[in-house]
Amino acid sequence: MKTDEVISVVGTEPCQPSRDLMTVREESPAMDGPPTVEELTPPERTLMGPGPSDVHPRVLKAMSTPLVGHLDPSFIDIMNEVQELLRYTFRTDNQWTIPVSGTGSAAMEAAVGNVVEPGDTMLVPSNGYFGDRMADMARRAGGEVVTVDAPWGRPLDPAAVADAFDEHSPDVFGFVHAETSTGVLQPSVSELTDIAHENDALVIADTVTSIGGVELRVDEWGVDVAYAGPQKCLSCPPGASPLTLNDDAMDKVLSREEDPRSWYLDISLLEGYWGEERAYHHTAPITNVYALREALRLVAEEGIESRWDRHRRVASALKAGVEGMGLEMNAPEEFWLPSLNTVRVPGGVDDGAVIQYLLDEYDLEIASGLGALSGDIWRIGCMGHSARRKNVSYLLAALGDALTEQGAAVDVDAGLAAMSERF
Ligand SMILES: *Cc1c(COP(=O)(O)O)cnc(C)c1O
Repeated sequence: MKTDEVISVVGTEPCQPSRDLMTVREESPAMDGPPTVEELTPPERTLMGPGPSDVHPRVLKAMSTPLVGHLDPSFIDIMNEVQELLRYTFRTDNQWTIPVSGTGSAAMEAAVGNVVEPGDTMLVPSNGYFGDRMADMARRAGGEVVTVDAPWGRPLDPAAVADAFDEHSPDVFGFVHAETSTGVLQPSVSELTDIAHENDALVIADTVTSIGGVELRVDEWGVDVAYAGPQKCLSCPPGASPLTLNDDAMDKVLSREEDPRSWYLDISLLEGYWGEERAYHHTAPITNVYALREALRLVAEEGIESRWDRHRRVASALKAGVEGMGLEMNAPEEFWLPSLNTVRVPGGVDDGAVIQYLLDEYDLEIASGLGALSGDIWRIGCMGHSARRKNVSYLLAALGDALTEQGAAVDVDAGLAAMSERF
């Protein structure tokens, strides 16, 4: 809206400002009066990308309930319930299990920024996008970063991890359990944690795309610190992100010589709020905590192992459909990650045009490849409330149409038949 239109709407005569003021005025449309913004009506998308996933209606309902104060006795009960549900979902008895205020990257930075002390060496993987982010955070925490290499689209080899320990003696080892950029699930987690512990290192696991979607056993697998996000397989909006630390990790965090560089994410301070004391540190995002509570209640109702099974069953039908259509998965079968399916873009097809077509014609979101796989793959999530037969058949029909539109030789009927057979 132009300046004079706004003025005529509010019905006031403009005064005569000096030239200088006039210039300022022209550059500051925000000062001209209230902007006209329509009521919020976002499109109704089906979310099958790398997150967020479709949110369960019960979670949306929980988010529309009234706020209580972050120190209200009723909220203290809610905090306890969320912590208990998080322990169940992580498969851990760790006392120190909390939702961090912020997205998955905040939980990641809380983990890395507290566990890595200046002068520490952290070993990180180079086989995907999120290992690089871990490295960046470790550097900012004053750590030195060394890498264990594997190509994008392959998991880490325990022998390579052992070699990296021999060569660099890292203090902290980070790995990504479910790499959302490549659709690869890291197998043999216990083997990796054994190597780290034999070398007196702590292990930080990125479980953002595995929590609540694929088998994850924090205690049994010897993971010292795990962080996650709510908007992937927990089907909850982003904003409060799971984090758990065992006693060994907490000992290191609470005996640091130097304070962590972030005040907001300092675990020794967060302990005041989420620990025994329940004293103010920052105002918890109440609504996001409500949402997470409901999302985790849904996990508990379904049963964590049944939920892992559902993801595997539904995603395997998605995979069968994609392959039946004549497309190729990017991740090798033995490292396939059910919650994030990477599909190779056939020759001659514009990956971005397909994504746009799905959004425009079907209100359906999938994503393109990142980093080394940019342009080569699509990333199709099958997470939480999106991991349903309804979504998978919709996706396959829509993707088949988009590819046919692009002139690709795909057999959509064969894909749908292969999917149905799997169900
Ligand atoms: C999504 C994701 C993150 C980052 O989480 P945000 O909520 O986007 O901050 C980190 N690691 C993995 C593996 C992810 O998929």
